[in-house]
Amino acid sequence: MEIYTNGHDAENGVRQIMQLFFSLKDDVRVESTLEGKIARAKIVCGEKEAFGEAVSENEERLYITNAIKKSVFYAAKELSAMPAPWGISTGIRPAKGARKMLNDNFSENEIIGHLKGEYLMDESKANLALSVAKKEDAILKSMPNGSVSIYVGIPFCPSRCAYCSFISQATEHNNKYIEPYTEAVLKEIEHTGRIIKDLGMKPDTVYFGGGTPTAIAPGLLQKIIGSLKENMDFSTVREFTVEAGRPDTFTREMVSMLKAEGVGRISINPQTMHQKTLDAVGRRHSVEDVERAFYMAHEAGLESINADLIAGLPGEDEKMMEYTLEKILALKPHAVTVHTLYMKRAADMIESFEKIRFAENTAAMVDLSAKRLKGAGFSPYYMYKQRNTLGNLENVGFAKEGHESLYNVYIMEEVQPILAIGAGGSTKMVMGEEIERVFNPKEAAGYTNRIDEVLKRKDLFYDFYKRRK
Ligand code: SF4
Repeated sequence: MEIYTNGHDAENGVRQIMQLFFSLKDDVRVESTLEGKIARAKIVCGEKEAFGEAVSENEERLYITNAIKKSVFYAAKELSAMPAPWGISTGIRPAKGARKMLNDNFSENEIIGHLKGEYLMDESKANLALSVAKKEDAILKSMPNGSVSIYVGIPFCPSRCAYCSFISQATEHNNKYIEPYTEAVLKEIEHTGRIIKDLGMKPDTVYFGGGTPTAIAPGLLQKIIGSLKENMDFSTVREFTVEAGRPDTFTREMVSMLKAEGVGRISINPQTMHQKTLDAVGRRHSVEDVERAFYMAHEAGLESINADLIAGLPGEDEKMMEYTLEKILALKPHAVTVHTLYMKRAADMIESFEKIRFAENTAAMVDLSAKRLKGAGFSPYYMYKQRNTLGNLENVGFAKEGHESLYNVYIMEEVQPILAIGAGGSTKMVMGEEIERVFNPKEAAGYTNRIDEVLKRKDLFYDFYKRRK
């Protein structure tokens, strides 16, 4: 793929659109030019060529860049059958712009018109972005002032899934790291508790993610929860989530401990209800494990149970997705999150025709899920995309009324500070439009060994808010 630009410096935008339609391996070149407010693109792909032209509404950089991307999009569409329902919207938070327009008092028709006209979104995606924006807006309005969310990362899983994009270690080979890791987490909790108290902040949501937090012994997990409660005021916590992604880690002992500790929301992640696929991607648990985990969670009376699914798993199609959805809905989850398979490197390297086949198949699975879940009383409430994914498709959280995860919305909309504890944690400082981050080491061993450095860096959070008081 070759990219030539003339009269502008928006090469990145041109590349994003080209990668939506073509593979890096393709014999394709694009010439993108800008004259005043008129953007033109010429794409030559083997023997074929196509042209696109778009005029910017005004001279603002955002609109000029959109016109450049649109001209490339129009030309690429002539040459490729790739579905591109999100148009030129390649950002990771497609609902953010719609929410801003809602707050600026634009009507729903104006928002839909803008998303379709300025970003070339399909009607269905523009409607999805608006629905999510409306739900998010209502949730954000209930966010207490001076509140903070707490994230605790447990980077262990029973085994590693083939498609995993997280830094997570299989407990079977890394058992020796778990106890020292827990000790380091306890130190960071103590330190974080002091920061929150000194700043007078109120914990609002607590989220245990990973990895699979329930992959460690219930006693150790309970020790971590106990330490959080000792070091922070839990009376203001409105939502307490623990991911129990791998259902094989969800034992009776674990569920009663979580219930006793006040956990209200869990996420059991089947991904698919086809055993053949689970085996192929190395999940190492059975469909029956999923059913058992749901049964135990309901029996214990956990308030909100989420199920994560993945559209586009190898060998799966629309029909298989339909079966998975039927099986999942029969388990009565309160929320279902539908992800699209993330294959960043593969997206760059596979041939175009394979990209198109994958994207068409996954897009059909995503559409079917949305239709089926809406029909069963779920509404979309948060959404994000990952860069460079095949088909530029979305990940959407659906929930029944009152079961939306506050934490998921906060993390998407970046409006509340997050104090992240543990490996892979990303602490976020937010003040209006200003956002700063502090990252913890990604791996359990690196985090454990560098805990003193981690604590020192955590003070940047204190400094950030102290400076602005
Ligand atoms: S359960 Fe999730 S975090 Fe753990 S290995 Fe599988 S994909 Fe990765």
